[in-house]
Amino acid sequence: HTHSHTLCEKRVCVFGTGDMGRSLGLRLLQAGYSVMFGSRRPQSCNFLPNGAQVLSHAEAAQAAHLIFIAVQREHYDFLVPLAYHLKGKVLVDLSNNLKKNQYPEANAEYLQSLVPEAEVVKGFNTLSAWALQNGPSDANRQVYICGDRAEAKQVVLAVATKLGFSALDRGSLSASRELEDFPLQLFPLWRLPMRIAVGLTAFFFFYLLIREILYAYITQGKDISFRIMVSLANRVCPIVSLIMLALCYLPGVLASFLQLYRGTKYRRFPDWLDRWMLCRKQLGLLALGFACLHVLYTLIIPIRYYVRFWATERTVTQIRQNGTNEFITSRAWHSDSYLSFGILGFGLYVLLGITSLPSVSNALSWREFSFVQSKLGHLTLLLCTIHTYLYGGKRFLSASLYNWYTPPGYMLCLVLPSVVLLLKLLLVTPCVDRNITRIRQGWEKGADQRNSKNNKTLVL
Ligand code: NAP
Repeated sequence: HTHSHTLCEKRVCVFGTGDMGRSLGLRLLQAGYSVMFGSRRPQSCNFLPNGAQVLSHAEAAQAAHLIFIAVQREHYDFLVPLAYHLKGKVLVDLSNNLKKNQYPEANAEYLQSLVPEAEVVKGFNTLSAWALQNGPSDANRQVYICGDRAEAKQVVLAVATKLGFSALDRGSLSASRELEDFPLQLFPLWRLPMRIAVGLTAFFFFYLLIREILYAYITQGKDISFRIMVSLANRVCPIVSLIMLALCYLPGVLASFLQLYRGTKYRRFPDWLDRWMLCRKQLGLLALGFACLHVLYTLIIPIRYYVRFWATERTVTQIRQNGTNEFITSRAWHSDSYLSFGILGFGLYVLLGITSLPSVSNALSWREFSFVQSKLGHLTLLLCTIHTYLYGGKRFLSASLYNWYTPPGYMLCLVLPSVVLLLKLLLVTPCVDRNITRIRQGWEKGADQRNSKNNKTLVL
């Protein structure tokens, strides 16, 4: 009896001989299962993995306890006449949809309603046929399953494990909608940061285009449009990068102030703040991307034709006039510290980027992670902000810079980081910090008075 029982467990059935069915069948065969395909046309099936049997749906269903349904949802009605053979069987719904909310109910729940006497388990739908063929060697090791019957899920879980996947139980069949949405996600956490990046880039590009290139053309009749390619790009990139880095640290600071103001940490943050906090990593990584571009654009400055041309021109003119330049030490100090702050800031920036990689951040303790992301993060912001202030130098006050009454881009981009740094400075002053720490540990404003009032009534 046990022998036939194990034999039965070793047999699995796959309905549908398409891409998914074939790949799954191949993997099942490799893992030592005997595989029966159920097909509409068992005689004329091509390219099936060696060693698999092909039967009609009814025959295949009778031969196994576990049946994978590798057929598109639209065709599920072929299962209705088979209901008798599917009684008590475990049906695995692998299906995905083309878009979210395509159907009123989840595919797996629809399947369950078609064959109420079978036990439907949703799962494996996050894999692709291609990944199944390649084996679970890469990141594609996790599969999700859900279903209403624990025994049925156990059967599917065992098969998943045998195939080399680690299966995660996501609960009852009502979770299947969520599982079906997984493959349809399009970088959900990147969307807001991407929009911000595109918006800022577009804004500053046109802002600088107007106040520099158009301004020169209209007021002096000079065509310096070639500067769009490198000079302008090398302004937009650092500006966007610094603003986005500030945007990455602003929500944390706002959240702290909100907690201070409310005097408790037990109230939910507003939705927008929550969403903002969740995409800080993506904001930071995009900011790092822009900083990298800025570094590259800066490194090519010496080989630009425009720069070489004017450098030579100046030298030649000087030779002609037999003039000399005086070395100004304060200028050297200024230029070197400007560059050095930029380099230090960028170095820490890269470190922040590296610690955001899951493999690295998972290896850090909570304290290490918060040290890097909070302390070093704010230090990065500080260094990059100083770098930008030094870029401005004394020029902040010169009226000649305000073309058409607009401030230069770097001045605009300093507003947000300066605000964030000031607020952060307030937060780390000892008396504010003490309050924040108390709140984070569960202290609530008013709770003491309430308690003492209660005590008084008790005493009375
Ligand atoms: P497919 O290549 O189009 O194959 C579907 C198979 O279903 C056909 O080969 C056919 O097999 C059977 N079929 C077609 N119409 C039928 C009908 N009216 N009645 C009964 N059976 C019918 O599709 P697929 O890519 O393998 O996908 C199958 C399922 O797996 C879908 O629900 C899909 O969402 C899911 N899935 C696919 C992938 C993937 O990478 N391809 C990944 C995750 C999930 P017979 O001719 O042998 O009957």
